[in-house]
Amino acid sequence: MAIVWYQEKQYPITAGESVLDTLLKNQFTCSYSCRSGVCQTCLMKAENGEPPERAQQGLKETLKKQGYFLSCICYPDQDLHISSKNNNSVSAWIVGKEILSQDVVKVILRCEDRIQYFAGQYITLTRQDKLSRSYSLASLPEEETLEIHVRKIPNGQMSSWLYDEAQVGEPLQIHGPIGDCFYTPGQSNQPLLLAGTGTGLAPLYGILKDALTQKHQGEVWLFHGALHSKGLYLVDELVSLVKKHANFHYSPTVLQGDPDELIKVGNLEETIFTQFPKLSAWRAYVCGHPELVVSLKKKLFLKGVSLKNIFSDAFITYPKNNT
Ligand SMILES: Cc1cc2nc3c(=O)[nH]c(=O)nc-3n(C[C@H](O)[C@H](O)[C@H](O)COP(=O)(O)OP(=O)(O)OC[C@H]3O[C@@H](n4cnc5c(N)ncnc54)[C@H](O)[C@@H]3O)c2cc1C
Repeated sequence: MAIVWYQEKQYPITAGESVLDTLLKNQFTCSYSCRSGVCQTCLMKAENGEPPERAQQGLKETLKKQGYFLSCICYPDQDLHISSKNNNSVSAWIVGKEILSQDVVKVILRCEDRIQYFAGQYITLTRQDKLSRSYSLASLPEEETLEIHVRKIPNGQMSSWLYDEAQVGEPLQIHGPIGDCFYTPGQSNQPLLLAGTGTGLAPLYGILKDALTQKHQGEVWLFHGALHSKGLYLVDELVSLVKKHANFHYSPTVLQGDPDELIKVGNLEETIFTQFPKLSAWRAYVCGHPELVVSLKKKLFLKGVSLKNIFSDAFITYPKNNT
């Protein structure tokens, strides 16, 4: 049985338990969110001993070399001396809030030190009580503040708090940015497909603005899905971008309701693939609900999009009582 040393005491790791599980079991307050090795909120450092390779998945080489690892997926087979040093965090505070739809709020954040990022990457917000959740960046790096879109989940600890209670001036800690779902210039004529549901629009909106700002020449199609038309948001802003950019097309799709000039009624995937049965030359960005992301990625591949041209962020949530 491996032993983990933390704050000068030792804790045996029971079979099937991660380092994070062990620390939580021993009443430590730790930052974490997805518990799936995605959001990187639970980053810790091995001061002595080698963390398993899998516990370093998705980390930058520079972090790996320094012994950083993700404690939620770290099942060590040797003793580890660990610390909670996390050099990947910056102080920030809320400078604005705007309700975008009946369940989506835009939150504007200012960081103490400006962070380098690409529109579409995500950050993890940590509240003063250590509650942490990830949100995608809809703003562009040249803007002075960060913009996120938060969908209020009934009884959701962070999202309901951000929607209903959090005030301008509220301090937060930001980890990140993380992720490779962002626009890269280079193949300016390549057609781009952006698809997502709900607040999956946040990273797609950032990626779209980035592509248009960088004068992407190929066609850019944004497919945004919602249950009904009240679930759509930023419709006016997107329609106005359509008017300004001849190569940009916006297709909102809802599952329920009546179609109109703009909005289609039906399944988002059917809407996309009826319009584009073959997509071999395309680059695709898919964000939002994990089931949609997995399903769309598979279908895009089958329709000819090469894997290296599919970028995605699944909004993975940890289902249990994740405080
Ligand atoms: C990479 C990444 C990027 C993300 N980007 C965004 C973003 O831009 N905007 C955004 O709104 N969210 C985003 N999320 C999701 C976000 O991190 C939180 O999981 C979400 O806000 C819910 O947190 P909560 O604390 O309010 O709910 P919790 O208190 O964690 O959950 C309460 C209950 O609601 C359920 N639940 C949680 N999320 C959902 C959901 N989406 N649908 C249905 N039930 C749910 C949980 O299973 C639980 O039972 C992202 C997640 C990841 C991993």
